[in-house]
Amino acid sequence: MAHIDQRLSAIALPDHLRPRDGRFGSGPSKVRPEAVAALAEAAPIYLGTSHRQPGVRSMIARLRSGLRDLFGLPEGYEVALGNGGASVFWDVAAFSLIERRSQHLVFGEFSSKFAAAAAAPHLDPPQIISSPFGTHPEPRPNPGIDLYALTHNETSTGVSMPVRRPVGTDALVAVDGTSGAGGLPLDPAAFDVYYFAPQKCFASDAGLWIVLLSPRALERSAAVAASGRWMPASLNLQVALESSRADQTYNTPALATLFLLVHQLEWLNAQGGLDWACKRCDESAAIVYGWAEASDLATPFVANPAQRSHTVATIDFGPAVDAGQVAKVLRANGIVDTESYRKLGRNQLRIALFPAIEPADLEVLTRAIDWIAARLGGSAIS
Ligand SMILES: *Cc1c(COP(=O)(O)O)cnc(C)c1O
Repeated sequence: MAHIDQRLSAIALPDHLRPRDGRFGSGPSKVRPEAVAALAEAAPIYLGTSHRQPGVRSMIARLRSGLRDLFGLPEGYEVALGNGGASVFWDVAAFSLIERRSQHLVFGEFSSKFAAAAAAPHLDPPQIISSPFGTHPEPRPNPGIDLYALTHNETSTGVSMPVRRPVGTDALVAVDGTSGAGGLPLDPAAFDVYYFAPQKCFASDAGLWIVLLSPRALERSAAVAASGRWMPASLNLQVALESSRADQTYNTPALATLFLLVHQLEWLNAQGGLDWACKRCDESAAIVYGWAEASDLATPFVANPAQRSHTVATIDFGPAVDAGQVAKVLRANGIVDTESYRKLGRNQLRIALFPAIEPADLEVLTRAIDWIAARLGGSAIS
């Protein structure tokens, strides 16, 4: 084993097969060097300063207004944030948004985790609708459901689904947008709750949750809080909303995360907003899936092209190539985090297509993979 690892890490990529930036992970994901430089410049008057003072509060104000612009939020929608990442927002939803019973579309690791979080003692057992990994299920209208839980992009499998309201229901539609937000199309009329963390398309560090709330979601949160249900303050959406309205957070946020997030958000808006970001992800998806489809060695894992994610691509390899070995050689050459989701257990590479990642770098990556595969025994040349 050690012998093989040594042999793999001795394979050196030629210079023309080295992307300018070697970060292709699906989260944490590439943080743009420009954002890090801007943080270093702002640091003396920003890092290590009070989150109750204008320096940090103005950053939260820019976050909230920048997200309104990026997503074109209508009047009456609100942006709130808190600590703990998307996973903690599942608990916020279980305490503050689900009235009695939720329905969950489960098609990978992340969507199954929200379903598990919603199996809380104060709620009825959630209804779970699942489909095989590599596909997504459709919601099933059910009069007993007061919140439908969708996932815009299942990061573990590379399947995305359009955000649409299930027909014939006025229940809340809550969408995990963590790895789709800022890279996949979104109509604000189609959701009530859209939440995400900053370490995917928003090219920041992790640790925050951010949520976009429709007027109906705001009403639900207020009604649940008023019902007298016990809830911890850190999971009480009303508490988060009160802080957010004052451009603050309930407890201390990670200031660097916040800064990098706002930098990326304002960069996206300056480039042309969500339309621009989606086009860039489309371009990257065309490069990676196009390469896999033309290759004799690789094939997109998601069979239905309409369900293939344009922010996270999963590429299967045939028996001639060991994807794990390809990932090791890439890593030894400074090209990191192309390993597939650990629990999916496939002969696969997973490649992020987030807006911060240069399409040209993805193009070089595909050629580097072909080159490595040929060195390892397979041959991509048909
Ligand atoms: C990454 C991810 C999460 C988890 O985010 P954390 O910030 O680690 O809690 C949840 N859902 C999806 C779809 C993700 O991609």
